[in-house]
Parts: sequence; C-alpha cells; structure tokens
Amino acid sequence: MEISNWRVWLTASVLLLAAFLTVPRLWSGPSRAAAMNAERTMVFVCSETGTVYTGIPRTTPAASPVTGNQTLMPGWYCPRCNKWYAGPGMETVQRSRRAPLCEICRQPLLVEGPPPAMAATLPVTE
Ligand SMILES: [Zn+2]
Repeated sequence: MEISNWRVWLTASVLLLAAFLTVPRLWSGPSRAAAMNAERTMVFVCSETGTVYTGIPRTTPAASPVTGNQTLMPGWYCPRCNKWYAGPGMETVQRSRRAPLCEICRQPLLVEGPPPAMAATLPVTE
C-alpha cells in the first residue's frame, strides 16, 4: 500500500515536472520566433550608389540611411562577378518566373550568396 502510494506520488511529480518544463517553453514560443526573425538578415543594395547593406527584411524600395531616398533594392548575388547588385523585388521575379540576369556578365543572379564583406548594417527601424 505504501509502495503504490509512493509510485502515484512519483508519477504525479514527474508529470508536474514535465508540465513545468514544457509550459514556459510554449509561452516563450512567439517571442522566440520574433527573435529568430530579427536575426534573419537580408542583403540590400542601393540602386543609386551601389552601397551594400545588410538588415532585417523590409519592403523595397526602402529608404537609404544615407540619402533618405527610396533607393534600397533587394541584393542579388552574381557568382561570376562575385558581387552583390541591386535587383528587382521578389514579387516582380515571381511574376516573370525567372531570375534576373547580371547586367555585366548576363549570368542569372542568385538570391542567396556569401555575406558581403563590406556591408553596412541597416537600422532596424526605417
Ligand atoms: Zn556578373
């Protein structure tokens, strides 16, 4: 009798402990997702100056932190030139159903590429 009581209490406390460990994780879910989002950066290139920036995703054209003009476009990587260029937005690419071509070497540009070495970081708020 004593042993089975002890087992019930053990089971209950294990379940309680499991709930205690799980519930805060569920609660922290949305804020974790937001933190992940903030860490996700994207490359932008100023169509006016060619300056490369990295920052959290935002709608383009976005304001340049230097001039304030709406000249920041999504960055597209050319593996042949080994450079990031200002390119069209994703919506435009999805509409035309093909990747933009490099204006210098006519190679298809890539959305992903090595992080630009000399990129300035965009402020979080526009
Ligand atoms: Zn190229």
